Amino acid sequence: MFGHDRPGGSPFGSDGFQGVNISFDDLFGGGFDSIFSQFFGESQSRTSRGSDLLVRHTVPFQAAMDGMDDELEIEVLKDCSKCGGSGSKSNKGSRACPSCDGRGRIDQISMIGPFRQRVRKDCASCRGSGRLVSDPCKTCKGVGRSFQSIKVKFGVSPGVGSGTRLRMRGQGEAAPSLNGKPGDLYIELEVEPHPWFERDGSDLLMALPLSFADLSLGTTIEIPHIDAKSLRIKVPQGSTPGETISIRDRGLPRSRGRSGRGTVTAVLKLEVPRKPSRSMLKQIKEIRDEMEGELKPLEDRIKDEAKTRRKR
Ligand SMILES: [Zn+2]
Ligand SMILES: [Zn+2]
Repeated sequence: MFGHDRPGGSPFGSDGFQGVNISFDDLFGGGFDSIFSQFFGESQSRTSRGSDLLVRHTVPFQAAMDGMDDELEIEVLKDCSKCGGSGSKSNKGSRACPSCDGRGRIDQISMIGPFRQRVRKDCASCRGSGRLVSDPCKTCKGVGRSFQSIKVKFGVSPGVGSGTRLRMRGQGEAAPSLNGKPGDLYIELEVEPHPWFERDGSDLLMALPLSFADLSLGTTIEIPHIDAKSLRIKVPQGSTPGETISIRDRGLPRSRGRSGRGTVTAVLKLEVPRKPSRSMLKQIKEIRDEMEGELKPLEDRIKDEAKTRRKR
């Protein structure tokens, strides 16, 4: 029928399938190294970078209202100021590094999965300087880096909240090698709590414990506030515990470029004298008797309360 009688024989040859020898270099023109260069960017050199640092810093609550200029002092591993980071006492006190032939860089072949990749790294022996220290600097003992106390100045903007991180570029640790970049310094801010306000973003919440008389008669109270003006809270006549009074635009400034201020909300609470005097007890009893005459019967009150509660 067909098959091996056909002129030319089996396309696979008499020995069955013979794999075509195509090297990966042929397919990709230049092999895996160049493929990886395309994926990871042409430059495969890795310049060492100093460590990032994170410090926590507490600011007073008022900073969330007004913002503030602040500063802190920290010990950071920096290039030695005496030798400029070379680690050497003088320019003559060093010789060419034998590990990298004074180039400061070393090419390393490393495997990423099944693939070879060439990586250019700072020479570990000379920390990328190409020189080995023979006469070490006394201040840093030839290391090139030393802990130094630095002052960092920064601005805290109004509306700032706990957990906000400020990034100070290049203020972190110096790179372990000479041609590396320093790391960044992050300052994580913690805002101190206010004596009575709880905070929800720019909104402020407080409890206002008042006597039965103040709730019944209504009152206006004035308390010192976070802005220069005191805070006036008008409590209407016949207020009950749990009701809230909101005062707009007296909270904290809104952050992230939004204008205006948040809302202050006061939750009314009932404060009862724990040990009233005899005369006060006598008067309260009189008020009770008179009040019972004005209020609905207890069962109706219970029903009414349930109705209004369920309407909410
Ligand atoms: Zn070297
Ligand atoms: Zn030094």
